[in-house]
Amino acid sequence: MNYSYVIVGAGLAGITMAERLAARHQKNILLIEKRNHIGGNVYDSYNEDGILIHNYGPHIFHTNNKEVFDYLSNFTEWIQYQHHVLSFVDGRLLPMPIGVETINRLYNLHLSVFEFAQFIEQQREKRTKIETSEDVALDKVGRDIYEKFFKNYTIKQWGTDPSELDTSVISRIPLRFNRDTRYFADQYQGMPRLGYTKMCENMLKSKHIHILLNTDYRDVLDGITYDTLIYTGPVDAFYQYKYGKLKYRSIDFKMETLDVASYQEAAVINYPNDYAFTRITEFKKLTGQTHAKTTIMKEYPCFKDEPYYPYPTKEWLAKYQQYEALMKKEKNVVFVGRLAEYKYYNMDAVVEKALKLAENL
Ligand code: FAD
Ligand code: UDP
Repeated sequence: MNYSYVIVGAGLAGITMAERLAARHQKNILLIEKRNHIGGNVYDSYNEDGILIHNYGPHIFHTNNKEVFDYLSNFTEWIQYQHHVLSFVDGRLLPMPIGVETINRLYNLHLSVFEFAQFIEQQREKRTKIETSEDVALDKVGRDIYEKFFKNYTIKQWGTDPSELDTSVISRIPLRFNRDTRYFADQYQGMPRLGYTKMCENMLKSKHIHILLNTDYRDVLDGITYDTLIYTGPVDAFYQYKYGKLKYRSIDFKMETLDVASYQEAAVINYPNDYAFTRITEFKKLTGQTHAKTTIMKEYPCFKDEPYYPYPTKEWLAKYQQYEALMKKEKNVVFVGRLAEYKYYNMDAVVEKALKLAENL
């Protein structure tokens, strides 16, 4: 069989590449996916009770990139959802990220926004060098807030201390010098009206795209000729673990459907210090669905099974660089996505990267 492009992985990276290349070149594309569905980790589906769930953890679309938002808007309408997260600290549910409301309720204070800035300034443990996620948090908010909201959550999430992790991890969480209690402040935020899977299906409508599910590309590649291979799977597997396996963090997702209409106060509640799970998501509060029952998901981070998160410590980022040197030498292979580039990408960043690459092919 002969294809212009073979794409490995039907996540957002592979799907965006397929859609753009089909639209621009009208050449045959083969999209190979080892799971039994498209969408990668943004896949959502209706469970046996008819509740729309995110099978691989809560996904909230948010971006400041108009091009990415406009592009995806060709394939879905949006529910105008603004994400709020609460953190269970000292027996109370407090707004996350840290802002005036969080601190006033945590310490029973009545600070204005201006006084909050002064308060934080007093709390900070200023660092001259910011080299780890612990440095980031201590420098921004000081020890007490760090220990209550970040330290133990991060240890649970990554199985290591924040002092071992790259600055990029805790830097994902902003500190808010205003009364905005939303988790994200991006200009464009929302949930695809009919879900992510439907959006992905709409992206793959071209007759030039052929999809092969339940297939590991290594089992079929020998029988296929192609001009360019686009690879979105784990990079270490691509090179048969030549430099050893890269470390990825995984998650054990535990779902429960409860015979109540509402379970918790927010779509996501984080549990930094209590229980073995990091957070509980209640899907109806993300999707806006009405239903007499509700489904919740608890996330237990672990090292087994599926790779979800590249592991952002010095050791593993350095090992990835060994693979990166090989990747740069490839002539007809393009690497893109969270697993292939070993980067803690959000959805919008993956789409942005794929759009750029597709333009140059
Ligand atoms: P993936 O979705 O992982 O797709 C790669 C695909 O390649 C997979 O389907 C895999 O099965 C396939 N594959 C691998 N090896 C092979 C092989 N040998 N042969 C064939 N197929 C193969 N981002 C946000 O913007 N907002 C959020 O709220 C958010 N929440 C998240 C929550 C969790 C728990 C996780 C894990 C991620 C979250 N993300 C979020 C990030 C988002 O999931 C990613 O940015 C995005 O899904 C990455 O797409 P991708 O195509 O790079 O990778
Ligand atoms: N984090 C934390 N406490 C929280 C939320 C997040 O310490 O209540 C840290 C933790 O290290 C986490 C990182 O910030 O891995 C990024 O959080 P985010 O919510 O972006 O994680 P994701 O949704 O990607 O799992």
